[in-house]
Amino acid sequence: MQLLDGKLTSNTLKDEIALEVTELLANGGKKPHLAAILVGGNGASETYVNAKVKACKKVGFDSTLIRLDSSVSESILLDEVRKINENPLIDGLIVQLPLPKHISETKVTETILPEKDVDGFHPVNLGRMMLNLPSFLPATPAGILELLDRYNIETSGKHCVVIGRSHIVGSPMSILMARNTKVGNCTVTLTHSRTTNLEEITRSADILIVALGKLEFVKACMVKQGAVVVDVGITRVKSATTKSGWKLKGDVAFDEVSKKCSYITPVPGGVGPMTIASLLKNTLQASKQN
Ligand code: NAP
Repeated sequence: MQLLDGKLTSNTLKDEIALEVTELLANGGKKPHLAAILVGGNGASETYVNAKVKACKKVGFDSTLIRLDSSVSESILLDEVRKINENPLIDGLIVQLPLPKHISETKVTETILPEKDVDGFHPVNLGRMMLNLPSFLPATPAGILELLDRYNIETSGKHCVVIGRSHIVGSPMSILMARNTKVGNCTVTLTHSRTTNLEEITRSADILIVALGKLEFVKACMVKQGAVVVDVGITRVKSATTKSGWKLKGDVAFDEVSKKCSYITPVPGGVGPMTIASLLKNTLQASKQN
């Protein structure tokens, strides 16, 4: 078994981005600028946004973090989005999800200009992805493609099973793995909570991508010998051994599954850092197009 080391790979990617920023500035260009909106102070969202802002600094981007109270109205949030849309100095915008229940995530996503939608969630970007046209790819699936690519994982003709059909991970992942691209050309099965014979399907996967948000759901008996396993899940569990009092675990029972597969992503240090690196890559692209 070999680890698909997202931390290492994302650092390489970040070094490449930082180099491009240096070249951009040397040629009279401006620093790429990412804006992030955080609504409320949910622990996990706060951690993710801070990690994104920190990563911007590391590669030489400017960043702006806008914090809004969890009681903010939908119209005030939409106004903030429109202000950023109109600000020529800002290249990319993300609104950290989930949002409080009284705010429509769909409305917010649709209000972000597709040209600044570096999370790749706007229907225009998802539609262009579907048609294999240039677009901002959703950061998590894009990070997974990059990881598979950098480890030279053969995907063509393989059976890829995706667990979970969310708009931000599972659904776009299934489309990307089926596209006629270098990392793609898989025969894809997309599974979800209504799938009746899940274990039978996962056991036939050459590449298994797991994104359902259930702690250690995938056991060794669900995995084919020699499969490539990508664990997207993140669950915080209490821990007596860490300073914070908690640690991150995935959707895959790593200890037993890792003995059976050829490649596997760890949690933490797998898909998470690749997601952030992909967001930076999209922001750099947005800045070049701006
Ligand atoms: P989500 O929106 O909650 O979707 C979960 C999906 O899993 C749904 O499609 C659901 O099916 C399916 N599901 C639930 N129980 C199932 C079961 N027993 N068998 C098969 N499918 C089942 O989740 P998400 O936003 O995609 O996130 C999934 C996980 O990835 C979470 O742990 C999240 O924290 C993590 N995540 C990580 C990153 C990263 O960068 N590492 C990024 C995003 C998300 P239905 O559609 O039928 O309900």
